[in-house]
Formats: sequence, structure tokens, C-alpha cells
Amino acid sequence: MRLFAGLGNADARGWRRRISAALGAGALAIALAVPGLFSTVAPAASDADFDRWIDAMWPQARAKGVSRQIYLRATSGLTPDPDVLKAADYQPEFVKPIWDYVARATSDKRVTNGREKLREYSNVLDAIETVYGVDRHIVVAIWGMETAYGEFLGDKNVIRALATLGYRGRRAKFGRSQMLAALEILQRGDTTPERMTGSWAGAMGHTQFIPTTYNAYAVDFDGDGRRDIWGTIADALASTANYLRKSRWQSGLSWGYEVVLPPRFNYALAGSGDRRVQDWAHLGVRRPGGQALSHSGEKAQLLLPAGAKGPAFLIFSNFRSILRYNNATAYALSVGLLADRLSGGGALSAPWPVDDRPLEEAERRELQALLAARGYAIGDIDGVLGERTRSAIRSFQKAQGMTEDGHAGALLFKRLKGN
Ligand code: CA
Repeated sequence: MRLFAGLGNADARGWRRRISAALGAGALAIALAVPGLFSTVAPAASDADFDRWIDAMWPQARAKGVSRQIYLRATSGLTPDPDVLKAADYQPEFVKPIWDYVARATSDKRVTNGREKLREYSNVLDAIETVYGVDRHIVVAIWGMETAYGEFLGDKNVIRALATLGYRGRRAKFGRSQMLAALEILQRGDTTPERMTGSWAGAMGHTQFIPTTYNAYAVDFDGDGRRDIWGTIADALASTANYLRKSRWQSGLSWGYEVVLPPRFNYALAGSGDRRVQDWAHLGVRRPGGQALSHSGEKAQLLLPAGAKGPAFLIFSNFRSILRYNNATAYALSVGLLADRLSGGGALSAPWPVDDRPLEEAERRELQALLAARGYAIGDIDGVLGERTRSAIRSFQKAQGMTEDGHAGALLFKRLKGN
């Protein structure tokens, strides 16, 4: 999730319920192609140590109701997966701007393929909408984001991948709890160890559920007795819809939409809590083209993912439901915008400020230090652009006669360094 560092509050929290497929196939492919990135990877420990660790995990598996037979079948002969160690250690060299992420998510190919899937699975999606009340375009957009509609499911043996993470290292706790959850899936007979494939971090099937998410939200929609998110599209898509519904998806409500702000707008209102749409309208907020704001009685937050110079959005509680799926603003916005394209919507009206790239972690720390040196209260110098840092940036912007949006991009950084 470090790919999203610097994109907003939600992004900084990172690594929560599940791991983005973006970190699986895409980032890994790039990482493997660049020699020297893994210079910090520890040499693989001997298999004997790993075997002892596998044996030591057995009592915890037994306590979860896993039989000895299932445990042995899933773990015998396992060795640490070197690809997983490499992927887990991968640190991206630069922060990917949100506009690159959105552009890839809403590419013409992804839109065309998604519309095809909407036609192909229209009956299943009718039924899913009826049962879960989640917009089919959102469900299909998540499918497209996670695996390009099933093109990249991940071919890692999930038990082996999670055992590798759980064995040692900074993701050991995650690996262990997910490995135990994966064993529970095998115990229930939903799938077999051979069929239980996924990403290096254990994200499985068409919509990339990690095992704990699977145990909490996967459903058997076609009624064959197994929750098969690997081979049954109906199960995978219904599981996603169920997850969103349990994450308080509101039927009939949008995720959000693009808006245009009036001149001399108070940018401190962005990200600062929900207001009724009609209140935003009174503040002069409009749709591009001037049409009225819809869902006028609902509460919405103003999102400026790239600051005042980029596109603006009003986002509803459903945006937070998507964030529960993957806690990154870039992800949730991409799902929403892809869903809009799938349902016939057009491109954004405002351009992205592509000359104002996001800051790397070291730059964010330096920015905080520069603000502190000028006497602004910013709290800890931790590279996390929280409310105090944004408030300090707004004060600096005010003093400089700049637009007070609190956004920390390369242009603001340059100004701070240069003055
Ligand atoms: Ca099934």
C-alpha cells in the first residue's frame, strides 16, 4: 500500500483488511524486472527452520478447528516462497500520482471489457442487485480493478505464500492470522489446497479477498454448497456485493460525483467533514456544465485529491464503503470513476495538475521540517501529512498569497525551499 503514500488520510493508514491487486501483479512485475531492488532481502533460512515453524503452528490451527489431515495436506513439503519474500520487501522508488492510477483504472480497454462483462453476466448481476442492493457497475468496477475481470487471479499457492510471510519479517503477524484463516477455508471444504491460489499476500480469486475477508463475507451465490471465488463468477461478484452491503452500502445512492467550485472558495472546507448537498449548493458548488447537485438531502464531503488545481468531488457514505474494501483514496475514486464509465459516463471535466507531482516520504519529512523551521506548529516530523501539517501549509499559503488548499505537492515544496 506504500504506492498510495501521500495521497490522503486514508492512504496513509494503508495495509488494512486486504491487499490491493495493484501491489500484486503490477508492482511485482515491475519489481522483478529491475535488478538490484532486492538488495535488502535476507537470505532464505534453511528449510529445517521453516519445517519447525510449520510444526509449531499446528496447535493454533487445531484450536481453529482444523483437522490434522487437512493441516498436513496443506503444509507438508512446503518451503518458503522466494518470490513472496521479494514482493514483501519491495519498496516503490517513487510515489505514483493519483492521475496515473486513475488513468490506468479507467483505460479504454478496461471500460470496453467491463461493458462486455456487464452484458455477459447481466442475469447474475440482476440477481445480485436484487439481493444486496449494490449497483452492478460498482461490483463490476471492483472486479476490473482487482483482476482485470479475472485476467490476473494470482497463481501463488496461498498457504505457502502466507506461511512465508508468517514465518518471519515485518508482515509475520498478518501472515500467521491469514494462514490460519486460509486453513479454516480448507477445513470447510470450500476449495482444495491446489485450487487455493492468489497473490503473494494471499488475496484470492476474481475480487481478491484475503482469507479473513473471505471468512467474513464470501457467499455461495450459485447454491452448489461451496463459496468458490476462484472459479464461479456468481460467487465472486456476490461476495463483493455482500462485503459492500455489510460495509453499509446505501442502495440508490451514488459513490460521489465531480463538482466545480466557485471563485474565492474556502478550500479549508475540503475533507473537513460532511455537509448536506444543499449546503454545498449554497456555497456555490455546482456540477460541471451547471446542472443541479443530485441527492440534495444527503450528506457529502468535499474531496480534492490533488489540491485546488485538480478535479473536485462530492463524496457520499458509499465512498467510505469502497474504502473498506481497500483503504486508499486513489482506489475508491478509481472504482467510482470506472463504474461511471461503465454506465456510460464520460471523462472528468477538470484536468489533473500533472506538473504538481506528489512528494516522496523523505520530501514530506523535509517539508514538515521546513514548516517547523518557519515557526508553524506541525506536530511530529513523521512524513504523514495529517490535519496539523495541512493547517500549517494553509497558514504558509495565506502568508504567501497562495490558494489555501493545504495541499502538499512538488510546487509547494519548491516554494518552501526557495523562499
Ligand atoms: Ca458456489
